[in-house]
Amino acid sequence: MFDRVLITSGPTREPLDPVRFLGNRSSGLTGWHLARVFSQKFAGEVVVVSGPVCRYPEGVTLIKVETAREMHAAVFRYFANAGVVIMAAAVSDFRPETASAHKLKKADCESVLKLVPNPDILYQAGKQRTPEQILVGFAAETRDAVANGKLKFRQKNLDLLVVNEITKDNPAFEVESNQVFLITADEVVKLPRLKKSELAEKIADEVVRINLRKNRSRDTDE
Ligand code: C5P
Repeated sequence: MFDRVLITSGPTREPLDPVRFLGNRSSGLTGWHLARVFSQKFAGEVVVVSGPVCRYPEGVTLIKVETAREMHAAVFRYFANAGVVIMAAAVSDFRPETASAHKLKKADCESVLKLVPNPDILYQAGKQRTPEQILVGFAAETRDAVANGKLKFRQKNLDLLVVNEITKDNPAFEVESNQVFLITADEVVKLPRLKKSELAEKIADEVVRINLRKNRSRDTDE
């Protein structure tokens, strides 16, 4: 159905020195299931750009990266030819300004860590996308999930935003199931708590629906 689907997955690691990094709790499980569902049912080729995780998808074009800047470069090598782009990675918004070439010693420790912003890959994708491409983002919010999600949906020029509301009952990271909101141009749907495998199916179904809608409105325009 789609020639090429591009998926980002997992965390990024932003080095402080050769052995230490800033990272996050993303396990890459949702990205792994998305890759599986699309390659089994909906895509000729699935390209996965993944940060470091325990388990990588099979039967896909796999690009392993560590940092946000590496992920950025890999995404834009494949972006133009992808009909569907799903950014499920938990990309670090910041990185240490400098990474030491050698392991930092206790005596090197400074009380202030200088951080600089990473490129926002999804924002740039939203700027470069064509109307035919389907662009899906993820968000993790600890409050006002829907209001913040709607804002992000518009700012990043998306077709679909999957919003995790992070609470004590719904940690989202490093767990098997998740409760999310799906935000599209015309509705906000609160899904029940689902296994991440089921969530990947729902997201794929929504992408297929969005594609049908785009094709239909293109046909009526012609
Ligand atoms: O703005 P925020 O970081 O909450 O947006 C999350 C979404 O943006 C996710 O889809 C994530 O993959 C993507 N993102 C990105 N590049 C960044 C930060 C987030 O592509 N530097």
